[in-house]
Amino acid sequence: MTWSIRWKVAFGTLVAVACGLLIAGVMTVQSLEQRYLTQFGDELEAKTKLVEYGFQPLFHTFSLHPTSSSLQETARNLGNRASARVTLVAADGTVLADSAVRDADLSAVENHKSRPEIQQALSIGHGQNIRTSHTTGERTMYRTILMQPSEDGLPLVVRVGLPMVVLDRELSELQQRLFLALGVAFLVALTLSVWLAHSITKPLSDIASAALRLSSGNQTFPVRTTAQDEVGLLASTLNHMADQLHAKIDELSEDRAQLLAVLTSMVEGVMVLDSRGYVLQINPALERMFGISRLEARGRPCAELFRHQQLNDLVTAILRSRTHHQAEIVLPLSGRCLQIEASPAGGERENEASVVLVLHDMTELRRLEKIRKDFVANVSHELRTPLTSIKGYVEALLDGAKDDPTASVKFLEIILKQSDRLNLILEDLLELSKIESGGISLKKEPLELRSVIDRTLSTIKPIADKNRHRLVTVVDPALPPVAGDEGRLVQVLTNLLDNAIKYTPAGGTITVGAKLAPSVGNAEPPARAIDLSVADTGIGIPEEDRPRVFERFYRVDKARSRELGGTGLGLGIVKHIVEGHGGQVWVEANHPQGSRFVVRLPLSTTVCSPPSRE
Ligand code: ADP
Repeated sequence: MTWSIRWKVAFGTLVAVACGLLIAGVMTVQSLEQRYLTQFGDELEAKTKLVEYGFQPLFHTFSLHPTSSSLQETARNLGNRASARVTLVAADGTVLADSAVRDADLSAVENHKSRPEIQQALSIGHGQNIRTSHTTGERTMYRTILMQPSEDGLPLVVRVGLPMVVLDRELSELQQRLFLALGVAFLVALTLSVWLAHSITKPLSDIASAALRLSSGNQTFPVRTTAQDEVGLLASTLNHMADQLHAKIDELSEDRAQLLAVLTSMVEGVMVLDSRGYVLQINPALERMFGISRLEARGRPCAELFRHQQLNDLVTAILRSRTHHQAEIVLPLSGRCLQIEASPAGGERENEASVVLVLHDMTELRRLEKIRKDFVANVSHELRTPLTSIKGYVEALLDGAKDDPTASVKFLEIILKQSDRLNLILEDLLELSKIESGGISLKKEPLELRSVIDRTLSTIKPIADKNRHRLVTVVDPALPPVAGDEGRLVQVLTNLLDNAIKYTPAGGTITVGAKLAPSVGNAEPPARAIDLSVADTGIGIPEEDRPRVFERFYRVDKARSRELGGTGLGLGIVKHIVEGHGGQVWVEANHPQGSRFVVRLPLSTTVCSPPSRE
C-alpha cells in the first residue's frame, strides 16, 4: 500500500506529537511523584523526630526501664498526635511498642530485625522504606531513627509509618488529570496535523494532478495557489512550463498540419526512408501511384514493399553516398513512367528521416512529348509528300514534258490535285489550331439533333449514293435538345460520315443514330446527355489503334488513307469540337463488322421554346 504525502505528513506529525506528549507525560508524572514522595518523606522525617522526642522523657523518668504498657501508651499518644503508626523496636528487632497493635497482641508481633528501615537505622542511624505493611496490610512509608536512651544502654529504633493511601489517591487523580490533558492535547495535535498536512499537501496534490494531466496530453488549467513559498514557486514554474509546452505543441501541431496539407495536396509522390531504407512516411499521391496504403507501407523495407530493381538500386546508392540522385523508372504493371528525385535528409539513425524521394508522374508528359514528336514528323511528312510530287512533275514539265500536250495536261492535273491536298492539309491544320487556341467560339444554344443530322445527310447522301452505301437513320423521336453550335456539330457529323464512307467498301451500310445516353450504374439523376453515333460495316479499327485515331495525323493504314484523300486531321477536329461542347467522343467495334463512333453531348439546361409560327 502506498501512502499519499498528506497521510505521511499527518501520520508523521502525529507520531512525533504523540511521542513528545507521552514522554512529557511520563516525565511529569515521575517528577511529581518524586516531589510528593520527598514532601511526604520530609513530613514523615519531622514526625519521626517529634516522636523520638516524645519517647525521650520516658527513659529518663523510668531510668531506662519503662514498662511495656507505658511504652504502648506513649506510642499510641504519639501516634494519635502525629496521625501515624508509631513503633518502637529494640536493637534485636523485638517490637517494644506499636500504636497499631493492641497491648495484648504485642508479644505476638513478629521480630522486625529483618525490616529494611530497621536495618538502615541500626547501621547508619536512620532509614526509610515504602512497602505494604504486614500488620496493617496498607502501602506505607516508614521512617526510622536510632534513639540512644542512655549512654551505656542498647539503642532503640523509633519507627513512624504513614499509610500512603491518600498520597496514592492524589497521585492517581493527578495522573488521570494529566493524561486527560494529554489526550486533549493529542486530539488538538491530531486536528492540527491533519489540517497542516492538508494545507501543505493540497497545493502539492494540485500540482501533481496538473502534471499528470499535462503528461497525458490533456488541456490543463493553471495550478492556482497563493503560497509564496517553495510550493508557490513550484506551481508557478509548472504553470510557466505548461504554457510553454502548449505553445510548443500548438506550434508543432500547426507545422505538422501544414506539412500534412502540403504532402496531401502534392501531385508528386513523396516517400521518406530511414537510414536502413525502411519506409517512414508516404503521401496520398504515392499511395495512388503504387496502389498501396500508408498503413501497410510504414515500417517496411522499401525493397520488400516495391520490388523494383531500379528503385532499390537508387535507394541503395543514396543511402551509401548520401548525395542527390535522380532516375526515371517505368512501373511494369501500369506502364507509368516516374521520375525520382532522391535527396539525403540528414537522419543517421533508425526511424529518423534519412532519405526523401519525390516521384513525378511523367507518363502524360512523355505521352505528349511523343505526340509532339510524332506530329512534327507527321506534318513534315504530310507536307513533303505532295510537295515532292509537285516538284517532280514541275521538273518533268521543264525537262520537256510541257511540249507533250497529253503528258503536260496529265502532269498539271496531278500538280493541281497535290496542291489541293496541300491546301486541304493546311486548312485542316489552321482549323485545328484555331479550335485548340480558342480562336473560335462555340455557341451553346438549345439544338435539336434531328436538324443537325438532316442537314448533314442532305450533303453527304449524294456521295454515299455514288459509293452505293445504304444510309440508315435511327433517331429517337422524343429527344430533348442538346446545348451546341449547329455549324460545328454538322462539321463533326460530316467528318465522321466522310470517314465511314471512305473506309466502308461499296454496298456497305452506314447508320446514324441518336438516343439518350444510358445511365452508368444506378446513378441518380440519370446521365443528362445524348449519344450521337455513326456506325459502319467497313474495315474497322484494330483495338490497339482506337485510342490513338483522334491524334493528329494518326492513321491506321497511312497508304490507304492518303489514297482516299484523307489529311489525318479529321478526327482530331472532331475531338476538339466535341470536347469544346463539354462532351466526349470514342470509337468502338461495330458488330459484326466495322467501327462505331459515339459522340456524347450534354443536354441543354435551358428549355427549348416551341418554334415560332411566323
Ligand atoms: P483521315 O483523313 O486519314 O481519315 P482521320 O483523322 O479522319 O484522318 O482518321 C484517322 C484514321 O482513323 C484514319 O486514317 C483511319 O485509319 C481511321 N479511321 C477513321 N474513321 C474510320 C472508319 N470509319 N473506319 C475505319 N477506319 C477509320
